[in-house]
Amino acid sequence: MKTIAVLAGDGIGQEIVREALKVLSVLKLDLEMHEALVGGSAYDVHGHPLPASTLELAMKSDAVLFGAVGDWKYDKLDRPLRPEQAILGLRKNMGLFANFRPAICYPQLVGASSLKNELIAGLDILIIRELTGDIYFGQPRGQRVATDGHFPGAPEAFDTMRYSRPEIERIAHVAFQAAQKRSKRLTSVDKANVLETSQFWRDVVIQVSAQYPDVALDHMYVDNAAMQLVKEPKKFDVLVTGNLFGDILSDEAAMLTGSIGMLPSASLNANNQGLYEPSHGSAPDIAGQGIANPLATILSAAMMLKFSLQEPQAALLIEEAVSSVLQAGLRTGDIFSEGCTRVNTQEMGDAVAKALSGLVKSGV
Ligand code: NAD
Repeated sequence: MKTIAVLAGDGIGQEIVREALKVLSVLKLDLEMHEALVGGSAYDVHGHPLPASTLELAMKSDAVLFGAVGDWKYDKLDRPLRPEQAILGLRKNMGLFANFRPAICYPQLVGASSLKNELIAGLDILIIRELTGDIYFGQPRGQRVATDGHFPGAPEAFDTMRYSRPEIERIAHVAFQAAQKRSKRLTSVDKANVLETSQFWRDVVIQVSAQYPDVALDHMYVDNAAMQLVKEPKKFDVLVTGNLFGDILSDEAAMLTGSIGMLPSASLNANNQGLYEPSHGSAPDIAGQGIANPLATILSAAMMLKFSLQEPQAALLIEEAVSSVLQAGLRTGDIFSEGCTRVNTQEMGDAVAKALSGLVKSGV
């Protein structure tokens, strides 16, 4: 029996996680689900976006299935109480240092990308982002006394970009091992021409590469990587980068695939315990309308089966079910194009569950 903490969160979180749970239930695996509040909905009830009970549940579970957190109505709260802090707290406490974001362009969605078809047809790249260091956590950072969380009159503010050797070494090992399972090519992205932290990152990655002679390593500055991702994305296979650059590049890569509503992600610690969530946020602009695309969350559940629950076959079945639903022409609004059938969140979840049920029954 494996236990899963289900943290649906805010905005469209509830709507999309519901569909992922529906799909998982088709597999009839021995999974125990425990739901808890996180983000703004937890703040409303407990006065904190990551209550101790939620953190405790996440820590003792085999995996966390996460929806999304955030809403503009919390923007005025002090930073430690904002919904997004819950994710940072989970990453920190669970030691989730490796974020996997595959960017795969499904053949059926080639037309949904803003790039030319030939640039993205067959795209299958993996961005690995370090999650626990860098400018998001480096100390010291600017502190100002203010009651509303904003400092319009402040003369300056600062954050510190910082990486330790062990932090870079462990993400480099993860990236080299991921590259070994794919095309044995790894691109490390930094800004070593300007930043000391980046030069250090590059030096450590090169040192680790000595243990992986079968992987071809190259390096690219982040500004060039941002350009190459839209110019010639298929030339990449696995990219590894720090927290800040990875945050930006992985969202850029999301749009290569057509919609951020299609992109799953996994954040893993050294024991393969993980947090699985769509790459998008809580989309307050469409929350409650039942029109969000649940596929990124459903595909995140598939990653959970593969990485944390040792059920790779079940993961493949979910991916196949998603593919067959797209093949049948079903589309939520974000990926809709002429000639397809427009469906809402629940209808998309139902269709994937039905396709999966068919695959399970036929013993594929
Ligand atoms: P967002 O990803 O929530 O939305 C960006 C755009 O994409 C919106 O137009 C939205 O409608 C659309 N979109 C997102 N997911 C979609 C889906 N599944 N189906 C269809 N359309 C979808 O980003 P944002 O608007 O910048 O942020 C909204 C809130 O989410 C903020 O409070 C932000 O802090 C938070 N956020 C949370 C996470 C997370 O929980 N991991 C990540 C990013 C942003």
